[in-house]
Amino acid sequence: MTTVLERIRRRYETTDKKCPDCGYVDEEGNWESRTDGRRLVYRHVCPSCDATREHTFNLK
Ligand SMILES: [Zn+2]
Repeated sequence: MTTVLERIRRRYETTDKKCPDCGYVDEEGNWESRTDGRRLVYRHVCPSCDATREHTFNLK
């Protein structure tokens, strides 16, 4: 379980840095994660234009 979550986190923090709206590249990769026990939600707010991106994963 931890391994899967770590892999997802790493994937977004390392590959999904560029804002699709303004093109700002967030080198910090400030993805926030939260979970309600059934779903894992990764959320990123662009520091430049405040565009929000979310990715939701169902936890088994
Ligand atoms: Zn942006």
